[in-house]
Amino acid sequence: MYSFCPQCGGRLEKRLLKAGEPKRLVCTACGFVFYLDPKLAVISILPYRDGLVMVRRGIEPGYGGWVVPGGFVDVGETVENAVVRETREETNLRVQVVRLLNVYSYRHSRTVVIAFVTEYLSGELAPGDEELEARVFRPLEIPWELIPFSSTRDALRDYLQQSPTR
Ligand SMILES: [Zn+2]
Repeated sequence: MYSFCPQCGGRLEKRLLKAGEPKRLVCTACGFVFYLDPKLAVISILPYRDGLVMVRRGIEPGYGGWVVPGGFVDVGETVENAVVRETREETNLRVQVVRLLNVYSYRHSRTVVIAFVTEYLSGELAPGDEELEARVFRPLEIPWELIPFSSTRDALRDYLQQSPTR
C-alpha cells in the first residue's frame, strides 16, 4: 500500500513487531512504524416519498453502482455533521439525523461505516457533481445486484427488516 517512509523517505518493509498482531510497515532506515488506521465513513438511510433515496456513483470505486448517500468523515468533524453534509452534497436535500442504525466493519476492509437513519427537511432531489443520478426506490425496487458495497446492502437490509413499510 505504501512503499516509502513519510518521515525520512526510506524503504518500508512489513515486520512482525508483536506476536498476535498484524505485521506493521516499518522503515528500514529510521525505524518509523507506519500504523494503518481504519477510515471512517458515514451513510444516510433516507426515507423520502414512497421509498428510500439512492444515488448512482459517478466516480470510482463502484462507478455506475447504486448506493445510499454518504462519504468519509473529515478530521475534526462530527459524524452527524458528516452525514448531513454528504447527503446535501450528493442529493441536494437538507436532512437531519433521526438515529443511529448500526456500525459496519469487515475483515480486510479499511473502512468502518456508520449508518444513520435521516429525515428529509427541504430541497429538491438532484444528483451532486460526483453522482450520475439520484432517485427514490420503493423497497421492492431496490437494485440489490447493482450495489457495489457490502455496507450499503447490509444497512438497507437492516433498515427494511426494522421498518418494512417505509
Ligand atoms: Zn524512515
